[in-house]
Amino acid sequence: MPHFITDTCVGCTICALKCPTGAIAGDKKELHSIDPTLCIDCSVCGHYCPYDSIVDDEGDLVVRVKAKDILKAIVTDEGWCQPPPGGRQRWREDAIGQLLDTEDAAVLFVAGCEENQARFHPRFNLIVLLSAQAEVLVERLAPRTSNPFGKSPGELERVLDDLRVVEPLLRTAADHEIQATKPLSDVVAEVLRLAGA
Ligand code: SF4
Ligand code: SF4
Repeated sequence: MPHFITDTCVGCTICALKCPTGAIAGDKKELHSIDPTLCIDCSVCGHYCPYDSIVDDEGDLVVRVKAKDILKAIVTDEGWCQPPPGGRQRWREDAIGQLLDTEDAAVLFVAGCEENQARFHPRFNLIVLLSAQAEVLVERLAPRTSNPFGKSPGELERVLDDLRVVEPLLRTAADHEIQATKPLSDVVAEVLRLAGA
């Protein structure tokens, strides 16, 4: 069951910026809402909301927490990358460097797979590879609504090519590998366990 936003929301947009799955939408100064199909019940939105406007699946208020207790998660697919000029997407190194320099959370999770990420590897305490077989990726990309990438034949071919060529390199760099074919809640629990969170 997902989290919900109550009508005390003033539309400050903080939760939408912090949500790791992009589940929150809304215009500035307008009531925001959570897409239940994208919400993974991580409570990050409630931990940041300055107006106590987020409740969990049981209707209980998710309280704001201090930075030292926050688990911060950033998905770098959008906003953190340079537009791919015909090649593969790359992290904006100044932005990623600034993100890693900012100490405003107990644990920072960074999700992404970009060509130049290797130069940041020494700055991470732990690298976890989430993997799935080709047929599972194809099956999941087709109905995905949160990101259009991977639907055209060319993009799908690139995904499968990356699986063959890039995934072995990622496996070499990773400290742990988790089979992402497991239920999402099991994958999240395993990531949190590895991070000691
Ligand atoms: S952080 Fe709180 S007040 Fe701000 S948009 Fe989200 S729910 Fe509304
Ligand atoms: S609980 Fe987590 S996934 Fe769900 S809307 Fe809030 S921040 Fe996003």
